Amino acid sequence: MTRIAFIGLGNMGGPMAANLVKAGHAVVGFDLAHDVLKAAEATGVKAANVLTEALADAEAVITMLPMGRHVLTVWTDILRSVPKGTLLIDSSTIDVDSARKAHAMAGDAGCLSLDAPVSGGTGGAAAGTLTFMAGGSQESFAGARPLLEVMGKKIVHCGDAGAGQAAKICNNMILGVSMIGVCEAFVLGEKLGLSHQALFDVASTSSGQCWSINTYCPVPGPVPTSPANNDYKPGFMAALMLKDLRLAQEAALSSGASTPLGAEAAQLFALFDKQGNGARDFSAIIEMFREAD
Ligand code: NAD
Repeated sequence: MTRIAFIGLGNMGGPMAANLVKAGHAVVGFDLAHDVLKAAEATGVKAANVLTEALADAEAVITMLPMGRHVLTVWTDILRSVPKGTLLIDSSTIDVDSARKAHAMAGDAGCLSLDAPVSGGTGGAAAGTLTFMAGGSQESFAGARPLLEVMGKKIVHCGDAGAGQAAKICNNMILGVSMIGVCEAFVLGEKLGLSHQALFDVASTSSGQCWSINTYCPVPGPVPTSPANNDYKPGFMAALMLKDLRLAQEAALSSGASTPLGAEAAQLFALFDKQGNGARDFSAIIEMFREAD
């Protein structure tokens, strides 16, 4: 049993904290939103009224927050309160520079730290089947691993500070670009009189195969579990895809990498989001290509 402080109990953090409770850990949670905190309490998380109350006696602290600036502010407060040797794990998706800054702050305070963003969405968070991509020292990774294994089914140590965030944005850039490619192909197929099923049967078993077609096909029919069969309810919200593509572009700019398709994907998802589609599944972007003619 580990005493855990869990900060940020929203769509992802709530079910992740609930799984830690189910596995027998003592979890004290804090969130700025009262209703979110109440919902977590119903799953066995002990609710703290202020951040410091959650941190008292914590051996490990997990943060699941919106953006880098939230993580840096919260980690600054955490590091003022916790003793040396405490393990801090950030599972939010944030920019690589902020992640590295957070690690440096933790190191200065004598604490262990890991960036450990996830993929798998709210379904994976609830089922405890997330993929964790971790960055940090061997010691931090070894300390965090038993907790991550409760919340996820695949845990990859990607390298040093920030490597988890780097892996996350590279993966999601592939996803954003590949989904657009698959959508364009289905729209072209429609124009050519090709049935969705015929294109799927060929591409999903040929060199066009990828997760965006085989598992998450953006048209209804071929993959019954894909959001296209459920009015494009997420799934993975287009606004979050846009966030990750923007993080990838920030990282490309600061590292000098050339990512022209990543840049184009970010622009297309920005347009889709601006048209009021941010809360829909990202595969609904196929409609934008249909409307473009
Ligand atoms: P969310 O908005 O539902 O939850 C974030 C929570 O953080 C909110 O409840 C908010 O009140 C709380 N919060 C913000 N500032 C705080 C502070 N200073 N102190 C305490 N609590 C604070 O977001 P989410 O969907 O749970 O996503 C969390 C992170 O996980 C994001 O970085 C997101 O990009 C990433 N992520 C989300 C998904 C997904 O499918 N939702 C998938 C993978 C990764």
